Amino acid sequence: MPPRLSFAPVRNFAKQGNLTRRMSSQPKVYVTRPDVDDSGLELLRKRCQVSTWNETIPVPRCELIREVAGKDALYCALTDKIDKEVLDAAGSQLKCVATISVGYEHIDVQECKKRGIRVGFTPDVLTDATAELTLALLLATNRRLFEANKQVYNGGWKSWAPMWMCGQGLKGSRVGMFGFGRIGQEIAARIVPFKPAEITYTTRSPRPQEAATVNARRVDFDEMVCNSDFIVVCCALTPETKEIFSTEAFQKMKPNCILINTARGGVVDQKALYEALKNKQILAAGLDVTTPEPLPLDDPLLKLDNVVILPHIGSADIETRKEMSRITARNILAALAGDKMDAEVKL
Ligand code: NAP
Repeated sequence: MPPRLSFAPVRNFAKQGNLTRRMSSQPKVYVTRPDVDDSGLELLRKRCQVSTWNETIPVPRCELIREVAGKDALYCALTDKIDKEVLDAAGSQLKCVATISVGYEHIDVQECKKRGIRVGFTPDVLTDATAELTLALLLATNRRLFEANKQVYNGGWKSWAPMWMCGQGLKGSRVGMFGFGRIGQEIAARIVPFKPAEITYTTRSPRPQEAATVNARRVDFDEMVCNSDFIVVCCALTPETKEIFSTEAFQKMKPNCILINTARGGVVDQKALYEALKNKQILAAGLDVTTPEPLPLDDPLLKLDNVVILPHIGSADIETRKEMSRITARNILAALAGDKMDAEVKL
């Protein structure tokens, strides 16, 4: 356990009327986004000296490195790479890195562990929002909603036609979940009412109890890629899952396979995906996450009809994002006080 920092309640300092003393005794927190919900920042401001990057683009690295120096805690987002260089620049007083996301592959957690820095994240709170968005993306992709919508505006809609804009329904299909954690299980639960023939899942460790609730069968990666009509990617990005959806994997997929990725862009070899979509090796893809983000406007994927791309909005539900902001703040306050965090990455 790190040493406890005592937080002087604001009202005592107000009595003393010594703002300077209050400021200097408060822990210092750097927030890399000005646009996180203020309810989280308010929690921090009551007890900490908070400084914030002031533009709604990710903080430039040189600015982050300059601003993190001397801070006790860092409130960051998935757009910030928190590595050895940043931790070195922060200094040995840094006690906590808290990210407003459930994914934490942007943080070098081993470096944090070495230095006794606690890492906070925001699991659970965003599970329903992300599962809901995944379903929306799946349905937009398999029923070609964006492609069809364009026809309304560009004159392509001439009349009702029996085989025009037909997609591939979920009913009777085989759905493979790559990752079956918090979000994967909620996605599967939302797929069940669409009456798939079977849901399978691929993970490192079996999840028999959770699988039983949606009647899912555990399969290995090869079986999942070879047999699925839909593959839903909802795993963590790790060295093992990085670009696991490779040329080889796409070659094994059925020509009617639809790939949905709401995990991280890095799980998919994007060039291989482009080739698979262009050559109709697979039917379509729906992506909420890409490499890089944002996707450059000249990216070849944007020229294809059989891909739906969203700008990483999985958890972008108002109440969810507000609560994510508060959890991140509470994680910092707890870490600074040496208390249990709302959600701490096990290092
Ligand atoms: P989680 O509960 O930790 O689930 C992660 C899943 O990935 C687990 O089932 C895990 O199973 C599986 N996994 C990890 N390594 C694997 C491997 N090598 N092979 C197969 N499966 C593997 O996390 P979560 O809350 O569901 O979130 C999942 C991911 O979604 C996050 O890490 C984040 O990147 C992404 N996400 C995206 C958005 C968005 O806006 N699009 C929003 C929220 C989250 P085992 O450990 O048993 O292998």
